[in-house]
Amino acid sequence: MTIYKNITPFNRWIGRDGQKVEWIVLHYTANTYQPDLAKNECAAFANQYVGASAHFFVDEKEVWQSVAVEDTAWHCGDNPPPKNGCTNRNSIGIEMCVKYKNGVYSIPEKTVDNTVSLVLELLEAFPEAKLCRHYDVTGKICPQPWVNDPSLWEDFKKRVEENRPMTPAERKEFDALAAKVTAIEKWAVKTEAAVNKGDKKIEDLEDKVAVVDERTEAKYHTVKEVPEWARPTIQKLVDEGYLKGEKAGNLALNTDLTRTLVIVDRAGGFDK
Ligand SMILES: [Zn+2]
Repeated sequence: MTIYKNITPFNRWIGRDGQKVEWIVLHYTANTYQPDLAKNECAAFANQYVGASAHFFVDEKEVWQSVAVEDTAWHCGDNPPPKNGCTNRNSIGIEMCVKYKNGVYSIPEKTVDNTVSLVLELLEAFPEAKLCRHYDVTGKICPQPWVNDPSLWEDFKKRVEENRPMTPAERKEFDALAAKVTAIEKWAVKTEAAVNKGDKKIEDLEDKVAVVDERTEAKYHTVKEVPEWARPTIQKLVDEGYLKGEKAGNLALNTDLTRTLVIVDRAGGFDK
């Protein structure tokens, strides 16, 4: 997404006093004048000392940056002490522009959409950061629509969490799992080809079964425990005596192996 910049030389501290970004804090501008535009907000903070600030301003069309993310903006205050450990030093502040009509504030849908996009982009750089409202830090009624109706806040969080980029630890775990699945798939393809060519007998599969099973935890011990999508294959292998398991009545199947057997079955590997 395009992030326009108009960095304020007044309303921020350089750096974060050695602290890391742990929080992303959502605010609303509470402006009554309309239209409430991110560009204008950003310009106002860039032009003079206000004694407050935020890193970003978001409206229905644009996102404007007022303070660099490596610097400290003054958006959630350190007084009173934070209720959740979030401070200006360890957070990024985002102000959402509002609609104000008949004394009622609302945050337009498109502004929420843009804020979701901005937060997801920030999470790429700060994958461990948690989300909160200004309200969660100090009890201030901000963003007011999301305090009055917490389901709006829950919806926002859900949208972000569903698309949240992986943390480095999650990425590592995912890559390891993906490598394992690839290895098993390769084996399945090789085995399938060998079975089709007649180089390999179905009985040989059981040797492999034991090896794979040592690496991953067995989850299904009986045909009944096998998920529906795999049950016909497993039932067939048991009925025909190909699959005997470790001992009578314990198939000791795990998900990877079960999936592999189904793939081979679908490819006709067990047809006589
Ligand atoms: Zn606020």
